[in-house]
Amino acid sequence: MDSFDPALVAVRSAHFIGGRYVAGAAALDVARPSDGVVYADLPIADAELVDRAVEDAWHAFKTSDWARCAPRERARVMRRWAELIEADVETLARLESVGSTRPIRDAAQWDVPFTAEGIRFYSEFADKVGGEVAATRPDHLGMIVAEPYGVIGAIAPWNFPLVMASWKIAPALAAGNAVVLKPSELTPFSTLRLAELAIEAGVPAGIFNVVQGDGRTTGDALVRHPKIAKVTFTGSSKTGAAIMSACAETGTKPCTLELGGKSPQIVFADAPDLDLVARRVAGAITGNAGQVCVAGSRLIVERSAAPRLIDGIGAVFQALKAGHTWAPGTTLSPIISAGQAQRIDGIVARTVQQGAQIATGGGRIAVEGEGAFYAPTILTDVTTESEAVREEVFGPVLTVQTFDDEDEALALASHEKYGLASGVHTSDLSRALRAMRSLEAGTVWINRYGRTSDFVIPTGGYKQSGLGKDLGRHAFEANLRFKSVLIDLNQGA
Ligand code: NAD
Repeated sequence: MDSFDPALVAVRSAHFIGGRYVAGAAALDVARPSDGVVYADLPIADAELVDRAVEDAWHAFKTSDWARCAPRERARVMRRWAELIEADVETLARLESVGSTRPIRDAAQWDVPFTAEGIRFYSEFADKVGGEVAATRPDHLGMIVAEPYGVIGAIAPWNFPLVMASWKIAPALAAGNAVVLKPSELTPFSTLRLAELAIEAGVPAGIFNVVQGDGRTTGDALVRHPKIAKVTFTGSSKTGAAIMSACAETGTKPCTLELGGKSPQIVFADAPDLDLVARRVAGAITGNAGQVCVAGSRLIVERSAAPRLIDGIGAVFQALKAGHTWAPGTTLSPIISAGQAQRIDGIVARTVQQGAQIATGGGRIAVEGEGAFYAPTILTDVTTESEAVREEVFGPVLTVQTFDDEDEALALASHEKYGLASGVHTSDLSRALRAMRSLEAGTVWINRYGRTSDFVIPTGGYKQSGLGKDLGRHAFEANLRFKSVLIDLNQGA
């Protein structure tokens, strides 16, 4: 996709409730991460408006043809929705790219098609899971009936606004639920277009709603609403804990939490191709400028391979081109805000004070405008106590720790708090599988790092990285509740 003028991208600053846009008073400035220009303002939905959205969703759930239609019909509408999203790629990719950290090429080639395909993937489940017949005694019939929850409250982060939201929305809708989504206040607009296209595809009004606002006001009101039957959240571990506690306080609501990470990439000296591994390790910490939940932020490398690997990673870092998201040549994304760039810099500076060395990077990069860009950074001479090793940086900062044997590698890989993802690079299959068994992480990648388009593989964290799964059959089933039915067949016998 060609470069474009961000000033010409029109946004609708509103909520989307009951099948139409609902205006609200301007309350928050929304800035473009690439150059810091405030390009729109955002209304904040207060508890009253959140109540209206949830009530509308509840009404649509109870009365529309969504939960009550033949599930194949629901699947057909969702497939149509996916087609409309694909056909709208130019508009959606530009909206995404202007307002977030996603370069236009990635938004057009990955974020938008991946969102559409995720919706298609979940449409295929709509008529595949109805429940079970139980193996009861022969004079009884037992059934376990799958039913949607009702209204699901979905809360999304800013790092991949469309994709992260779609992982919440698609399985919930395919299972017959209604959804009220709150996107991040930093990236609020692209999901409104999704909602508009849902209506065009035939999703009944009120089944998919978007409320805008910050976490403290809008997010909290959504989680606590008595008619929200389940919450599905992606964001930081700190917010996830607050949401879990609000769910407990307001009716022991179930919640799915996809949270932060501090994921290790373990490289043994016998890895098949160290140059290829260097490219993979570099890609795993520089994609979206490290603003990825599963970013491979801790390199744990066998001592003998460390110098060559660090050189190789440094070379990849040097070749990246920081730039505006609307320039097709950009390969290094901006940081979401100046405040976040400052936070990254603070962690790097304190880690250096704690004894770390900067092998490459370690500071801001100047790009035209007021956007915040951070140089891909390698920190060596760190320990498990270093701040950059302990805390999620959410930026392009890779720490390096070396080991001499397998036990030491696995001990270093274990993190006191997080267990989201991990990578192991080795030619020794038994060692890879031993590591897989030992790693306390929701995902283990062997001789690769990162997801493919295999939606069937779920994602989710161990420890403080989360609860439950996005993607896969698991995420679909998590949007259903199961009713046990037991029938006595002796009547009239
Ligand atoms: P965040 O926790 O600050 O915000 C996430 C969302 O929660 C936003 O929409 C925000 O407005 C809302 N929110 C904030 N406080 C709230 C409250 N008290 N009640 C209800 N909602 C509230 O996270 P972020 O900065 O947007 O995203 C980055 C974080 O997300 C990182 O920690 C990253 O690892 C994590 N993340 C995890 C995954 C995963 O799949 N595990 C994927 C992407 C991002």
